[in-house]
Amino acid sequence: MSSPEEIGGGVRSPHDMVLDIVRRRSYLRDVEVQSVLGAHTFKRLQRADFVLMLLHEAAEFRQRAASYRNFNVGAAAWCKGPGNWSSRVVGHNVKLDETDQVNIHAEDVLTAKIEDGQLGKIAVLAVIGPTQEDHASGKTTKTLHPCGRCRDRLGASPAMTPSTLIVTARPDFTAIEFASLAAIRALHETGDDEGLMTFEFDTTPAIFAPRNLPDEWSPGQQPYRIEEIDSRDYDETIGLYLARRYMSGR
Ligand SMILES: [Zn+2]
Repeated sequence: MSSPEEIGGGVRSPHDMVLDIVRRRSYLRDVEVQSVLGAHTFKRLQRADFVLMLLHEAAEFRQRAASYRNFNVGAAAWCKGPGNWSSRVVGHNVKLDETDQVNIHAEDVLTAKIEDGQLGKIAVLAVIGPTQEDHASGKTTKTLHPCGRCRDRLGASPAMTPSTLIVTARPDFTAIEFASLAAIRALHETGDDEGLMTFEFDTTPAIFAPRNLPDEWSPGQQPYRIEEIDSRDYDETIGLYLARRYMSGR
């Protein structure tokens, strides 16, 4: 007689069973694949706009995290796939109690979805969560970095490349950091923070404030006005950094 955990011949752990659920494309926009035309548009998009969009998406999906201690983490990735396809993938963490029976990190969900969809290589990975002491290194950083376990898993993931840009931010966006996985590892392993670019703001830059758009808009209704957002904080710091970084046209 087989127990409910025995699916497909093998015994599946609660962790794997929950991961199977959250890696499904259940949300309307959790995996968005762009056509060749979309990929072409992506190349021409300002990288600064693009990173901004990913940060907003990671913040939005952070609201769906399931953490027994309210340690909510959201992540979003932009992948460049084979044949010029590109996709945007989002994920969040799931930890239902203090045991490790189910302990899914936002990065796990992303890499699982990327694997399932064969979405290629991650160009930009954004992670947003509250800061806490890193369990592996004992360091407290200005933003939440992928943890020791995720650093190892990402390091082994075929979706990562040496040029994958990792963007980490505080939930209120008063600190945002940019680095490669190698630079984050160096910081945690040797204390060398050379490879990290950190931006700090006194208050949440207006461009990161949650957008207050109407839920729906139907034809015939007065079109709503999108209020102009002061983006100087962002443009003059992160925007410039990204423009310089991608100046070489890569
Ligand atoms: Zn992790």
